Amino acid sequence: MSRLDSFIRRLEAQRNCLADAASRAKAIPGIVLEFGLGNGRTYDHLREICPGREIYVFDRQVAAHPDCIPPADHLFLGDFTDTLPAALARLGAGSAAFVHVDLGSGDAAASQALASAIAPQVSALMAPGGILVSDQPMPAPGLGTLPLPDGVKPGRYFMATRQ
Ligand code: SAM
Repeated sequence: MSRLDSFIRRLEAQRNCLADAASRAKAIPGIVLEFGLGNGRTYDHLREICPGREIYVFDRQVAAHPDCIPPADHLFLGDFTDTLPAALARLGAGSAAFVHVDLGSGDAAASQALASAIAPQVSALMAPGGILVSDQPMPAPGLGTLPLPDGVKPGRYFMATRQ
């Protein structure tokens, strides 16, 4: 498969998983968390598919399209490992109905290690029944795997729920 096809399939999988998660999370009160602002593509999409929800965003830098920059009071700026403890203190354990983690870089092993390192704190931020969509596997106590939407190849994207 060409790199272009692989990229397109990854984005299709991402969009399908986000749509499925938004629908599953509809009945769960709580905020939305986005780990990995990047150029703001998925943040912008979350604003569209989660109307009325507060969205908090995490990244070490702001390099997004000007239309896709979160308000300063909804942005945790810094390394995830530094901002997660502050987020837990400020937002509270169990506060998130829907979490999207999109942290991948070109270094697959480093991305996987980072996802595993932050998974327990991400899990702690999630409400019971809350939905996690991620670009890496995120093993953590309290997180159970969810089936992927039709057409999403296993391993391309990941979904879990807080038990
Ligand atoms: N979701 C974004 C979009 O659709 O435009 C793309 C996110 S990009 C794949 C990954 C982002 O994660 C980058 O903006 C990078 O700065 C951020 N990131 C990676 N590791 C991080 C870390 N340890 N702490 C904070 N941000 C990190």
